[in-house]
Amino acid sequence: MIYELVPTELHDELNAFRHDLEKMTLQHIETCPFCGENKFYLIRSKPTSTYRCKACYKYFTIATNTPFNRLTPFNWLEIIFINRIENKSYHYIAEKKLDCSLEKIMRRDHAIIEYLHAHYPALYRWYIAHDQSDLTPTLAEQHKVINDKITAILNEKNPSCIHCSSTDTTKVGSRTCYRCKRCRRSFNLLGDTPLNRLPKPELWIEFINLMVAGQNNMQIGKKLNLNSSTISSWRAIWCEMMKIWNCEALAIWCSRR
Ligand SMILES: [Zn+2]
Ligand SMILES: [Zn+2]
Repeated sequence: MIYELVPTELHDELNAFRHDLEKMTLQHIETCPFCGENKFYLIRSKPTSTYRCKACYKYFTIATNTPFNRLTPFNWLEIIFINRIENKSYHYIAEKKLDCSLEKIMRRDHAIIEYLHAHYPALYRWYIAHDQSDLTPTLAEQHKVINDKITAILNEKNPSCIHCSSTDTTKVGSRTCYRCKRCRRSFNLLGDTPLNRLPKPELWIEFINLMVAGQNNMQIGKKLNLNSSTISSWRAIWCEMMKIWNCEALAIWCSRR
């Protein structure tokens, strides 16, 4: 029935992709993903069939060298793909279909998107255009947490000293560095985080808003007048920060290019 939901001209790619997913689920391996030889030993079959190539001696599973590596159980992939085509939300799939966390669904959907991008370009374009436009409540909540934290850190006047907890502190320089008047030591609010050396704090909130809105690196680069390698390193740093600040779902959401 999903065939009625997908434009006819995409059915060839759709069939091919579903066939790939089926092979993934059945863990049907024809050749070594490293050297292409077709002779291998079965090393173990649970939880995932793992093989060793007789030619190059490398170990592999059906998902080796694919975005689906370690995303077991593999039969979830098709369930998620079909539900997304039926326009079901991540929340719905997590709660009603697979009884698992939102993060697990998003991680797999992003792997599906990455795989489509590499192998089925037309289906990929259709599938991402079809992506959820409304943020789920969890993502919206986490987005607010991140923005609030950044705003607070960048506008802090007298943070408590990290050495002696005194609030008799004063800002030094333009970033997040302070000096304590009591113990006379200095400290940086972002000192032990990946944000420490990230430039242009005046763009951070806007950058995050664009990422959360689903803009790709090229679109964000144009708007903020930054080059694409800067954007991709910013994206990686922010996704790491989101995880540190317990916003895992948002980090997964934003990790897609
Ligand atoms: Zn091999
Ligand atoms: Zn102090």
